[in-house]
Amino acid sequence: MEGLFRHTAPEYHPAGNRTERHPAGGTIPENPPATGTCTDVCPLQYLQNRCPEITYTDSLLAGYLMNYSVITGPVFGQHDCEGHVECRDRLLGIIDQLPQQVTRHEPVPAAPGDIERVHHPGYLKWLRAQCDRNVEYDFVRDSIFVGGQFTPSSLFSGYIDENTYINPHSYEVATYAAGSAIAAVERTLDGESCFALVRPPGHHAAAAWAMGFCLINNIAIAAARALRMVNRIAIIDWDVHHGNGTQDIFYTSDRVLYCSTHQEDAFPHTGHIEETGTGAGTGFTINAPLPRRSTIADISLVFEDVFLPAIARMDPDLILISAGQDVLSDDPVGDMRLQPADLGFLTGLVLDRTRMPLALVLEGGYGPSHGAAVRNILDALGGARPARADRTPAKKTAGLVAGLRNMHDLS
Ligand SMILES: [Zn+2]
Repeated sequence: MEGLFRHTAPEYHPAGNRTERHPAGGTIPENPPATGTCTDVCPLQYLQNRCPEITYTDSLLAGYLMNYSVITGPVFGQHDCEGHVECRDRLLGIIDQLPQQVTRHEPVPAAPGDIERVHHPGYLKWLRAQCDRNVEYDFVRDSIFVGGQFTPSSLFSGYIDENTYINPHSYEVATYAAGSAIAAVERTLDGESCFALVRPPGHHAAAAWAMGFCLINNIAIAAARALRMVNRIAIIDWDVHHGNGTQDIFYTSDRVLYCSTHQEDAFPHTGHIEETGTGAGTGFTINAPLPRRSTIADISLVFEDVFLPAIARMDPDLILISAGQDVLSDDPVGDMRLQPADLGFLTGLVLDRTRMPLALVLEGGYGPSHGAAVRNILDALGGARPARADRTPAKKTAGLVAGLRNMHDLS
C-alpha cells in the first residue's frame, strides 16, 4: 500500500516524466521519490482535496487505478438544427463542464467498411444522398427509407422522419461519431476508460433506417468491429429511451448481451421484458422498462440484481455503455427523477462490480444538468464514488426485478 501511495499527482512530484495518467488527470512519476510521506502523496487525499463534496473510497486502492479520457471535437457541432433539442448546444454544455485535466482525443471518422458491418448499403447510400442535396431544399420530398422500403414523404424541411433532421454535413458528422465510438472502444481494450462525447446519437438507428434523432448506430458499429478482436461484449443502455436499434442489430447474437433500463410507454415503445432475443441470441437481451418518475434506487436495483449478475455470468471481454442522460429530473424529453450525482453512482457501481474499464458513448440528455452528470460520470471513472442516494425503489420495480431474475435464470 505504501508503494501505491507513492504514485501521486504531479503537484507533489513534478519531476516525474512517465506518461501514465493519474485518474485525477495528472501524470504518475516514473521514479517517485523515496522520501514522501503518506499524507503528502496519497492519491485519495489529492482527489479528496480537489473535490471535497465527493466521498472517495478505497476503490483506488483496490488495484484498478483507472486512466480515462474523452473523445470530442468541433466537428459534432456541424450537425445542427436550430430549435431542436438534439442540437450542438447540448454538447457545448457538456464540454464547458469537462474537468480541465481530462485527456481529450480528436474525433476520427469510421471507415465505410466498419459502418457497413452494421447498416444496409442501400440505406447508407440513400442517407448520404439526402445529406448531399442542396441545403435549399424545402422538403425531403422524394422518399423516406423506413423499414427497408422507400415511401413517399411530405415531412418538414430537412427531416427524414417525424423527429430526425439532417443537413448537408450530417452524414460526415455521423461517420465521425461512429469512428469516435470505435476509438473509445479501442482505448478501453488498452485499459483506459473512454467517453465518446459525440452526436448525432445512435441507439435508435437500425440496420436500414434512421430514427429518434439517430442516423447511424455508433455503439453498434463500435461493438461489431470489436467482435473481430474479442469474443463477448456487454452493452448497458441507461438512456431514458429503449435502444431499439442496438437491440435489433444484435438480437440474434449470443456474443452481445444488451441490457437496457428505460421509461416504459415512452418512445420508441419497444423494450418490453418479453423481448429477450431470438435464436442463438435468446436470453442475450434484457429489458427493464421502468415507470415514470423512477429514481436511482429503481435503476440501481435493476443493475445490482439483474444486469450485473447477468454480465458476470456472461463474462464479457468488453463493456460498452450507451450513456443517455435524459434520465435526469430536469430533462425536457424524459420523465425520470435522477440527479447528476446518480449517474456517477451508477458508473461507479458498474466499475466496482466488473472491475473493467468502460467505453461510454453519448446518447440522449437534453436538460440543464446534463453537463454536470457527464462530469460526475468522468469523476467516477477517476475513482470518485458519490454516496448512494437515500431512496427506496418502488414496489413495482421490486416486482419487475423478481420477474427478470426468474425469466433470465438469475435466481
Ligand atoms: Zn433518449
